[in-house]
Amino acid sequence: MRLLMLLVLAGCSRAIPTQLHPAGTPSTHDLLWDEPGPIVLESVVSATWQVPLSGLLDLDDPAAAHFDSGPFPIVLPVHVLTHPDHGAFIVDTGVSQARARGEKDVARGLIAQFVKNAVPVEPLGDILARQDAPLAGVLLTHTHLDHVLGLEDVPEGVPVYGGPGEGEAHGLKDSLVQPTIRRAFDGRSLQVWDVENGTPIGPVNSAIDVLGDGSLWAISSPGHTQGSMAYLAFTTTGPALFVGDTSHTQWGWDNGVPPGTYTVDGEANRDSLMQLKALVDEHPSIAVFVGHEL
Ligand SMILES: [Zn+2]
Repeated sequence: MRLLMLLVLAGCSRAIPTQLHPAGTPSTHDLLWDEPGPIVLESVVSATWQVPLSGLLDLDDPAAAHFDSGPFPIVLPVHVLTHPDHGAFIVDTGVSQARARGEKDVARGLIAQFVKNAVPVEPLGDILARQDAPLAGVLLTHTHLDHVLGLEDVPEGVPVYGGPGEGEAHGLKDSLVQPTIRRAFDGRSLQVWDVENGTPIGPVNSAIDVLGDGSLWAISSPGHTQGSMAYLAFTTTGPALFVGDTSHTQWGWDNGVPPGTYTVDGEANRDSLMQLKALVDEHPSIAVFVGHEL
């Protein structure tokens, strides 16, 4: 079971077609660390699940050694970011309406068995249906299965963005999960953030000004996967940082302990986590959203 969990959560999809997304123009706007921004944020639990803590947290880290590796409750969140001029963006995708109805979705065979215990709460299609603004883009933190299960509810033609290298294979373990992720993309291209041409924000090495007005940033955060991204939004209630699976858990964030077996490169993950934590240390007004708690 643990092996299967590893295979699924570590899987990525060689088969996703990719297209390079141009870097946003580095913004010279003063960032709104301590006053309301333009973006309205709604964070939604799309599904709940339980997975081994050894995947979510590096239990070899001395700070985490007292935990056992048993099942840990998580959520699959969808964050809706609505900009007054640019429409709505979502960070990650939760689960689909087909899954919520108990119908066949993109997961088949062993993968379907693996995800069958994920309990839908509100599928992405329902979340999108009650938005006033049209969906302008999907901001993926990475392309692991539990972040793309709702993609099939995304209307055709809506761009899907992610980090570099997410479309590349990591050997044999991908073979099991690739068909599912390919079905989730359903022929869409992944628009790849040009993190090489990002701009620093304080301790963060590379960030891209997504809309050109300084209100929404895509931040390079490699380690959990090669192309993992975080997103920073300046919302009506203050700045909000979505760290994705650079930290699955609030405890991991609070204690600076990166994820465990689900992470591809533990050292790079730790470095990215430290950059994001240093940004929040500089700007304590930032609300932090970890990958799988809400
Ligand atoms: Zn995840």
